[in-house]
Amino acid sequence: MRLHRDGSRRDTSRRHFAPSLGVHDIAIDLGTANTVVFVGGRGIVASEPSVVATDSLTGEVHAVGVEAERMIGRTPATISATRPLRHGVIADFVVTEQMLRYFIGRAFDRRWAHPRLIVCAPSGVTEVEKRAVEEAALGAGARRVHLIEEPIAAAIGAGVAIEEPVGRMVLDIGGGTSEVAVISLGGIVVSRSVRVGGYELDEAISHYLRDAHQLAIGSQTAEAIKLRIGSAAPLAPELTMGVRGRHLLSGLPTEIQLHSEEVREAIRAPMEEILRAITATLEETPPDLAGDIAREGILLAGGGTLLRGLPTLVTKRTGMAVSLADSPLTCVAIGSGLALDHFDRLGTRSTARHAKNASNWRAA
Ligand code: ADP
Ligand code: MG
Repeated sequence: MRLHRDGSRRDTSRRHFAPSLGVHDIAIDLGTANTVVFVGGRGIVASEPSVVATDSLTGEVHAVGVEAERMIGRTPATISATRPLRHGVIADFVVTEQMLRYFIGRAFDRRWAHPRLIVCAPSGVTEVEKRAVEEAALGAGARRVHLIEEPIAAAIGAGVAIEEPVGRMVLDIGGGTSEVAVISLGGIVVSRSVRVGGYELDEAISHYLRDAHQLAIGSQTAEAIKLRIGSAAPLAPELTMGVRGRHLLSGLPTEIQLHSEEVREAIRAPMEEILRAITATLEETPPDLAGDIAREGILLAGGGTLLRGLPTLVTKRTGMAVSLADSPLTCVAIGSGLALDHFDRLGTRSTARHAKNASNWRAA
């Protein structure tokens, strides 16, 4: 695919903002499922799926975000709608850069804006992966970049006083990763990241429908089932939903009635993997901090924690109380945004120093 110098098509439908005093700083929660953009002094200005639709012949960007997501599974051969991140790390560098360029554009209606940027990254990413995020942000026009770890950002966004010498546990379930971290004194003491998130639950639902009902469904239908009748603990009453798909034997469109008990059973294995990450992290936590967590409970963040009955299941299996962030889908972006106030004290990488690396990367 060819990289366009401009990176993305100009989007005339974009909201227009007039930055009042100079260029504002931006914080971006670059998630596997959703990208959330926070502008200093204004708050959240965009929250869209991390999807880019590109022309596979010319490399031209057709759509980003909501519009591109609607194209997944529905594109002609020449257009591909892809998620440039997998399990929290960049799988397609060029497309990630194009996507960041679009989101920076959503924040400022000025082509020449070169904001300072805080990007949130999962705590489990390697140095090489961190470097890729930074290079993509610089390539997309940022002047300086700082990476903040997701559990820290989630805790700040949920209003936790992270600088206190008190152990707190954060569980963040995103689209392709779940992260458990214990933080104290503003840093991560123990953490664990598993490559299981909301998409693995969707996939498990698709598999179940194939095996038990001989029904083929698309990924968006699987997610819709999870949102409508998915649960991690018994419901009262249990729910039922009509699901349309293609019958594997007849090949014809078919509708079946699906029960919430079946969905719970279907997602049991990936849920277990997430629970194991929590208990393993608790086992590694120093005793005093574990005592703090027992008192304070576990903070839940990320869209995946909105699954019905998840708090109940976590409490049942760990014995810990849990609290759901006020806004699980945006608290990471809000926390990263609040960290903008301290930008000058954060270690950052800037365009000038690393421009050479960035262009090398792109030429490679
Ligand atoms: P990421 O940080 O990886 O972009 P998000 O925190 O935005 O992920 O969460 C996205 C995931 O949350 C998706 O897998 C989505 O299906 C899931 N999700 C969103 N709302 C709900 C809900 N009400 N119940 C269950 N899962 C949900
Ligand atoms: Mg996330």
